[in-house]
Amino acid sequence: MRAISCVVPDSRDAILITGAAGYIGSHATLRFLREGRRVVALDDLSVGRPGAIEAIRGAAPGADLEFVRRGITEVDASWIRGRGIGAVLHFAARAIVPESVARPELYYTVNTAGSVALMRACLEGGARRFVLSSTAATYGVPPADQIPIRESTRQDPINPYGRSKLAAEWALRDLTAASAGSGFASAALRYFNVAGCDRTGVLGEDHDPETHLIPILLHHVLGRVDRVTMYGEDYDTPDGSCIRDYIHVDDLVEAHAAVLAGLGDGEFRAYNLGRGRGSSVREVIAAVERVTGHACRVEVGPRRAGDPPVLVTDPGLIDRELGWSPSVPTIEEIVGSAWAWFRNHPEGYRR
Ligand code: UDP
Repeated sequence: MRAISCVVPDSRDAILITGAAGYIGSHATLRFLREGRRVVALDDLSVGRPGAIEAIRGAAPGADLEFVRRGITEVDASWIRGRGIGAVLHFAARAIVPESVARPELYYTVNTAGSVALMRACLEGGARRFVLSSTAATYGVPPADQIPIRESTRQDPINPYGRSKLAAEWALRDLTAASAGSGFASAALRYFNVAGCDRTGVLGEDHDPETHLIPILLHHVLGRVDRVTMYGEDYDTPDGSCIRDYIHVDDLVEAHAAVLAGLGDGEFRAYNLGRGRGSSVREVIAAVERVTGHACRVEVGPRRAGDPPVLVTDPGLIDRELGWSPSVPTIEEIVGSAWAWFRNHPEGYRR
């Protein structure tokens, strides 16, 4: 992977990062500040952590960071223009599948309507680049002959979370087409399983409630969770457990820099972001045991509703077009970076 220096239309422009106090948004904020960029960090702290912003300030003293506690629908064109925002990385979202099934209105309000309101404010406020965090969940359950998943694989989400994100993708593509000639360009980045923690040890993953496999296993190792449930062992996979494509959060953030650097005026692009390698739940458990030296108490439970058996991408398109490929090659290294942070922050950012 070649080193990427971000070229937003004008390097003096600020980058607006929404969800900046969240897991991925915080990593992106630190990355762009370290590059010397001016960052406006937006978060309503409904799920984000103030501790993440404090950690960023501690790690990047003197960096050009403005943190604004506000929702994505509470910014308008004059707010965007007044801050000289040239590019937007839109991470703020609700992203828990079972919650989306129980509260679809919340997902369509935040992920779809909220995103559209932000797109509109950005277009009217003169921002020229918009990168939407989308998800592998927009693909639903692709047929076996479509694995690994490519960007051309049919998007057919099976839950409100995936549909709320796919609707936002459509809106972004259509708004970009309608603004032809203005210089606006955009991308939808479909994340597979983002995992691991900042390799400089500053930032981590701190959700409440925690639903993701690797953090739950590490909470278990730390004694915060008594046992871990494996959701299903009767899938049609080599070891019976679900297979996912885990990508290190630092690699994922780096892909955003590549996209900002590579987008041409007027374009809309979509890319899958993963490592292109699958790890089963059993393999992830084994990796956690190897990395931590702790035997995990795992019980097998029923399948979790809405879990596709295999989600693995072919990340070749963004490599061919923009020269981005993941640099963290193994699940052990991903888990190792997470373990380094969790060990030092057993209570998350609350410590
Ligand atoms: N999983 C599990 N036990 C848990 C949490 C997750 O067996 O306590 C499984 C889940 O069924 C899926 C994989 O681990 O197959 C990854 O789940 P996660 O929630 O981390 O990410 P998702 O794939 O849902 O985005």
